[in-house]
Amino acid sequence: MADFRSDTVTKPSKAMLEAMSSAEVGDDVYGDDPTVNALEARVAKMFGKESAIFTPTGSLANQLAIRTLVKPGEELLAEANSHIVRAELGAAATFSGITTRTWKSENGIVKFNEVLEMLSPNAGPYLVSTKAIAIENTHNFGGGGVQSIYEIERLREESARVDVKMHLDGARIWNAHIASGTTFLDYGKNFDTISVCFSKGLGAPIGSAMLSNNELVSEARVWRKRYGAGMRQVGYLAAAANYALDNNISRLTQDHQRAMAIANACSSAAPSTIEPENVKTNIVALDLSKLSISAPELNLQLKEVGILTGALGPNFLRVVTHLDITDLDMEKILKILPDLLKRALVA
Ligand SMILES: *Cc1c(COP(=O)(O)O)cnc(C)c1O
Repeated sequence: MADFRSDTVTKPSKAMLEAMSSAEVGDDVYGDDPTVNALEARVAKMFGKESAIFTPTGSLANQLAIRTLVKPGEELLAEANSHIVRAELGAAATFSGITTRTWKSENGIVKFNEVLEMLSPNAGPYLVSTKAIAIENTHNFGGGGVQSIYEIERLREESARVDVKMHLDGARIWNAHIASGTTFLDYGKNFDTISVCFSKGLGAPIGSAMLSNNELVSEARVWRKRYGAGMRQVGYLAAAANYALDNNISRLTQDHQRAMAIANACSSAAPSTIEPENVKTNIVALDLSKLSISAPELNLQLKEVGILTGALGPNFLRVVTHLDITDLDMEKILKILPDLLKRALVA
């Protein structure tokens, strides 16, 4: 099977497994795991932050950030198709007791003015008070789009004036950095809290982190334990993340080139399905609404010939490239997918 469902399907390489099995470990709840401590210090420094906390999932990293920024009954602003809103199963409401108000944007790309218009800080006893804004970069359901650092900086400048905090859902910030050239430090400057995933494009089997200042990370450490995610000898997993940071960031360009090749082939066969210029990273979001085939149908046809993709809506088929995709997988999808799209063109 050529597995284009997600960049989460990768398996650790032999070299990564070796790095894991030779890791020095200790009880991380006691702060005794040297490999976890080194990873947390390293990733915090990369983004110019004081501290970081290792978590099993990106969802937990996001939720720890939200928990520390927004109090019960207060409000987080987020994009309508963001992971925090659609894919974390109501965690922010369930665990933190907060409300979320959303803005909608084309392909998930943020325009600072549209968000500023929604701010309702210090609303007193009349309206819900806005405490934080979440930005997703790259934007997953938006098709891997990269947020403009200009828009982020403007939003930061204006929201800071009214003490509204900013959270970066940076599950794929590595891809955003590679595609845009924006440094991790420049991203770091503009956010109070950041979540990053080692288990997406970087290829670790598990692991994320939440980054912030010492105070908020200390608070997050209490909540992580309370949520039941205080972990023990997880240096074995942190070693995979360290290995991924050492070896798997710059190679993301290959994933991006391959996604572009798929987008170009699909666009040539069926122009309405994708604008190749919108494909900036490793995600190809195909819009089948003008074709005579649905996403679940196309997904099934592809599966029958050994290609796995994601049907994320009736007309939304997602194709994701990653480090376990082979040249053969690429040949296969480039040969078959454009052909199936062509057949589904409405005459
Ligand atoms: C994958 C992902 C996460 C975290 O997901 P987990 O499965 O909980 O690790 C968060 N945000 C975005 C945008 C993601 O794609």
